[in-house]
Amino acid sequence: MRIHAIIFFLLISAGRLSAQNFDPAEVEKIEKTLSSDAMQGRATFTPGIEKAADFIEAQFRQAGLKTLNGGASYRQPFTMLATKPISASATIDGQPLSADRIVVVSASTQIKVDDHSGFEKAFIKAGAPFVPEVLKYIKEKKNMLVLVDSSFAKAFPRLAHFTRQQFKSDNTIVFLLTSTDPATYSVTAEQEVTEHQLANVVGILPGKSKKDEYVIFSGHYDHLGIGKPDAKGDSIYNGANDDASGTTAVIMLARYFAKQKNNERTLVFATFTAEEIGEFGSEYFSNQFDPAKVMAMFNIEMIGTESKWGTNSAYITGYERTDMGKILEKNLTGSGFTFYPDPYPQQNLFYRSDNATLAKQGVPAHTISTSKMDSEKYYHTAGDEIGTLDMKNMAAIIRSIAISSKSIVDGKDTPSRVDTQQLR
Ligand SMILES: [Zn+2]
Repeated sequence: MRIHAIIFFLLISAGRLSAQNFDPAEVEKIEKTLSSDAMQGRATFTPGIEKAADFIEAQFRQAGLKTLNGGASYRQPFTMLATKPISASATIDGQPLSADRIVVVSASTQIKVDDHSGFEKAFIKAGAPFVPEVLKYIKEKKNMLVLVDSSFAKAFPRLAHFTRQQFKSDNTIVFLLTSTDPATYSVTAEQEVTEHQLANVVGILPGKSKKDEYVIFSGHYDHLGIGKPDAKGDSIYNGANDDASGTTAVIMLARYFAKQKNNERTLVFATFTAEEIGEFGSEYFSNQFDPAKVMAMFNIEMIGTESKWGTNSAYITGYERTDMGKILEKNLTGSGFTFYPDPYPQQNLFYRSDNATLAKQGVPAHTISTSKMDSEKYYHTAGDEIGTLDMKNMAAIIRSIAISSKSIVDGKDTPSRVDTQQLR
């Protein structure tokens, strides 16, 4: 009886401790600040997002996190370019090509390319998957001439989207909409180029014994900013759920693990910029790691509302790609909380969030979410405000992420890798 009583007491006090560490009132405080009108919807390249970054930095400092490279700041800066086309002209086999059939992706203001420039030639043939093909060539670190079949005439103008924001690169990629394979060509283009500084906010807790093995907890802190006023005259897209909720989780988890002081692996707490305009923040962040050293990534995206199964549940994107979900489930046994496989596979969430860059390199990198992607009422609207979220459930989810990650944080479990051959 006595031993049982002691175990019972220990269980109760352990439970109380965890619950205390994930107090809904604390969750609410952070969430309220991040989603307040003062942060103006946290759009990338605006003063609002700078305020958010300052706040997250202060939170990381208070929690006692170290900076990623031992510097003074938790900001992880990088440069992006914004370009605005001024003019473009081209000839192929001596025949002029109209400007709307030319898209140039480049960091230069003046571009002059012809068949003597040594550009590698590539084709996007009729019937090929347009966007993945385009992305593939944009990510090639080469000068390229890409000939896009005329059957893509409707999609071609969308290419301009990829030129508006880009990482600084020495390479130029010229896309021409034509079904011919020209023997000679020349392209001239002029554009305005401006440089922008961006920053992720990143803090770490070095591991006690496995310092070179990383476990990442992340979410994006940018959102859509200020848009057209809705029926109520509200024009601020507060992004309380998307993704102030994930950012709040990262801060709460940082506090928790910093207090525990017993992580064997190095924990990385990352909040990303520029997700909404193309996941640039997480792409930059992810490429600073040797993927072989990243044991797991818990990306947290939109956990403020009930999942389709109600409270005390969430889903994991790409669940079947690794055994990480099974490990989390095992650690949650008896907690009353359930992680399900992603119920919206047709939405390709595994490829659409900040886990994607590392997942494509084989890392067990998953996104945890509760968002009802077929019916989430306030998704990408000015109505995505704190009043629509459930703080108690959010606290329970954050706590469950902490509990479920324990054996991975302790270095006892290592999730299997994503088989990159199986990815599209
Ligand atoms: Zn969003």
